Order: sequence, then structure tokens, then C-alpha cells
Amino acid sequence: MTNSQYLKWFYQIEKALWALFDQFEDLCSRCAVKTLQEVERGQRKGRDAWCCCMIDNQVHDNWEALNANQLRADRDWYEKLPRQDMGRSMPGNGPCPALGETGCQLKKHRPITCTTQLCTKMLVALNASNLVKCPTHHALQIEDLIDLPDILPSLYGTTRKPKKVTRDEVNRYVATIRSFRDRFAALPPAQRKKALERAMPKR
Ligand code: SF4
Ligand code: SF4
Repeated sequence: MTNSQYLKWFYQIEKALWALFDQFEDLCSRCAVKTLQEVERGQRKGRDAWCCCMIDNQVHDNWEALNANQLRADRDWYEKLPRQDMGRSMPGNGPCPALGETGCQLKKHRPITCTTQLCTKMLVALNASNLVKCPTHHALQIEDLIDLPDILPSLYGTTRKPKKVTRDEVNRYVATIRSFRDRFAALPPAQRKKALERAMPKR
């Protein structure tokens, strides 16, 4: 089990990453609505691009570390999850039981992938903004795009061989993410709008 200082640091990094992901504005909610509409219509085409929380189940994929970390804050955390019933029409092993009407119901210490993964739509937006240059046909993790200290598995407790993490490494991680976020936030509004439209056209 990871220690409480490591979890505090993980949360600091998590918040910096959420601030970066906020730059995608309503992309995730539009993605979720589009997915629900296509499920309703029985459409199968394009389901690889469906809302990740509806087709993945990161809670069970990361059960051991996630459960240990969530139990520290609430012994009944799992019983309180909303559990969307979407029938058997979803690909993968979703929907994730933490997915609620307003998005993920885990308020902190989400699985690493949930906070670091850039889906194909996000990658299209970042490429269109000239913030990165990378393939867009499959999802990537943030550390595939920018140089970051490899500390999250040790902080979160997902590695069998945790290494000692220093405050400096945590600070460097947070500062790098903030700097990337600031570049994203500084985009001229018209360029940002165009990039997000390219990722997923508004209807
Ligand atoms: S991260 Fe990507 S796939 Fe997941 S909900 Fe947001 S836009 Fe959709
Ligand atoms: S834990 Fe939250 S963010 Fe991660 S897949 Fe589940 S609902 Fe989505």
C-alpha cells in the first residue's frame, strides 16, 4: 500500500492534469452525448471512438491499488458508485461503474490512465493547435508527448517495485504540466475553436 504523503502528491499532480484537460472544454460531454445517441440508434460504426468511460472499466482494471486508495477516504466508496445500466450494447468491458450523470464520481485518486490518457479526439485537437506532433489513430499517455518524471505508479501504488519519489520530482511534474496547460490556454480563441471542432464537429 502506498503512503499518505505519496497520495497527497498524486492528488497535486491529478489536479494539475485536470486543469490541463479542462482546456478541452465540453469535448467529453459532447462525446458522451454522441455515444449515447449512437447506442440508442443501434449504430455500430465508429464505436472505437465512443466515450472512454462508457466502454472501459478502469475501476476493475486497477482494482487493487484503486480500492486501497479509495478505502482511506470512505469504506463504502464502492457501494456508493452510481453504476449506469447501459445493457449489453457497449464494446469493451464498460460502462465503468464510477460513471455518473455528471461524469466520473471519484473525486480524487482516480486510476492513473483516467488522468493521463489523451484519446484520439484530444490528440486531433492538440495536433490541430500545433501543440504536439504525433499520430492520432490511437490513444497516448501524456508522458508519451512530453518529458515527465516516471513517478505515478510509485505514488499510486500500482507497481510491485515502487521507487523513492522526491518532492523535486513532484514539483517538476506539476510545473511541466502547468506550462503545457498555459500554452494551450494561450491559444487565440478562433484557433482553439477550430481545433476542438476538428476533434469533434459541433452539431
Ligand atoms: S476522453 Fe475522449 S473518448 Fe473519453 S469522453 Fe473525453 S473525448 Fe470522449
Ligand atoms: S474511473 Fe472515472 S474517469 Fe476512469 S473510466 Fe471510470 S468513470 Fe471514467
